[in-house]
Amino acid sequence: MKEKILIIGAGISGLTTAYSLKKPYEVLEAKSYAGGLCASFHENGFVFDCSGHFIHVKDKEIKITEKLTGGLLKVERNASIYAKNKFIPYPFQANLYYLDDKTKKECIDGILKRKDIKISTSMPFLRWSEAMFGAGITKYFMKPYNHKLWSYDLNKMTAEWTGEFVPKPSADAIVETAYSKNKKKYGYNSVFYYPKVNGCGALIDGLTKKVKVNLNSRVQKIDVQNKIAFCSSGKIYRYNKIVSTQALPELIKQITNVAPNVKKAVENLLSNSVRCVNIGVKSEKGVPKKLKNKHWIYFPESQIPFYRAGVYSNVNNLNVPKGSYSFYVEFSSFNKRYKSIENLVDDFRNLGFIRKTDKIAALNIIDMPYAYVIFDDRREKSLQIIKEFLKECGIFSIGRYGAWEYSFIEKNMQDAKSLADMLNKNRFSA
Ligand SMILES: Cc1cc2nc3c(=O)[nH]c(=O)nc-3n(C[C@H](O)[C@H](O)[C@H](O)COP(=O)(O)OP(=O)(O)OC[C@H]3O[C@@H](n4cnc5c(N)ncnc54)[C@H](O)[C@@H]3O)c2cc1C
Repeated sequence: MKEKILIIGAGISGLTTAYSLKKPYEVLEAKSYAGGLCASFHENGFVFDCSGHFIHVKDKEIKITEKLTGGLLKVERNASIYAKNKFIPYPFQANLYYLDDKTKKECIDGILKRKDIKISTSMPFLRWSEAMFGAGITKYFMKPYNHKLWSYDLNKMTAEWTGEFVPKPSADAIVETAYSKNKKKYGYNSVFYYPKVNGCGALIDGLTKKVKVNLNSRVQKIDVQNKIAFCSSGKIYRYNKIVSTQALPELIKQITNVAPNVKKAVENLLSNSVRCVNIGVKSEKGVPKKLKNKHWIYFPESQIPFYRAGVYSNVNNLNVPKGSYSFYVEFSSFNKRYKSIENLVDDFRNLGFIRKTDKIAALNIIDMPYAYVIFDDRREKSLQIIKEFLKECGIFSIGRYGAWEYSFIEKNMQDAKSLADMLNKNRFSA
């Protein structure tokens, strides 16, 4: 058999693999459109993403991303936390200046009274947070916000995911921000990029111009002994190697003859789900003053059911028709508090995020059954067992859900390119 690589999934990982391969391949995508979580949707003149999907690329990747998207905007992040009816600049831990006196004192006391222990990301998240930021910052932001985001017991989760995602100013720097406004930009996304037109999906449009995708082609079964994949379209595909970008638990379910220890390891892989509600609003006055220039907002307080919301039109006003603005709102593991979208819109009006007189012009709901991989002390060991098994089967599982990690577009593209480079160099027998 001639060499053929089967790529499962036409998200950013699958498409970048195909784009970088110099060998015959076939891309199979379950849905009727390509893009996975990087897809964009057009509704009544509004461009919506799967919640905020901003691009963080370093110098050498900017050129290729610009080429693929047709042009990028460079944006300086304007993110906040909304608590006690006011906005605090992000990150909370570097902006104590904006807190009321009592909360500020608790946060300073907390950081000064931290126990002198060795900090490790393998610690339970809450213990890690108290050791890193103290009890006050943990109480007012780290605990309530992360509880909402992960929908999981923060004592059972480790802090391994925090890496570049949680800014870690020094204790001195944190205390300093209580007395004078912080001017330093923290975090990997303090500057980000966003396509000039067509939302994050512009990146996918660029790739699908170069890569052929078989849509409506869900892989249902993989016979690893005979190297045949069976597809929902009725077609079967013979292959030499598989690059799978679908969620790891789904991949294992499709493989014939999986050993019990591998099945058991998969049961240890946990994730949350996210529902994103996109809202398009018509208003000649534009976005309410309260939200002017804000890109996204974190909501730690429990009385607000969503954990984050963002204003697409403040990132790129070409995402909306003239005289309009637009939001995304994110709920973790399908927070059940709202009976209908009208309840959410009512809350937005009460918060002053939508004016009472402004009209809702577009609504779109996106469910992400796999959204954030949960890190606990079983994840790493379980992944080792699964990866070893997949290696024997000739399957490379990559991407945010294929590698079962907390990653983002840039890393997905880099990993896909590295894998394709390796596959290009090696010859594989049938
Ligand atoms: C709420 C949220 C916000 C995020 N914001 C950002 C951000 O601002 N910036 C950033 O860089 N990253 C962000 N990310 C991460 C980013 O979305 C992912 O890293 C990236 O989209 C992962 O791409 P992927 O191709 O690995 O996986 P996916 O996008 O999940 O693609 C997998 C593809 O496989 C297909 N598939 C599944 N099963 C099968 C099957 N059996 N047969 C065929 N096809 C199948 C799916 O339909 C899908 O198209 C965010 C993620 C979430 C959840």
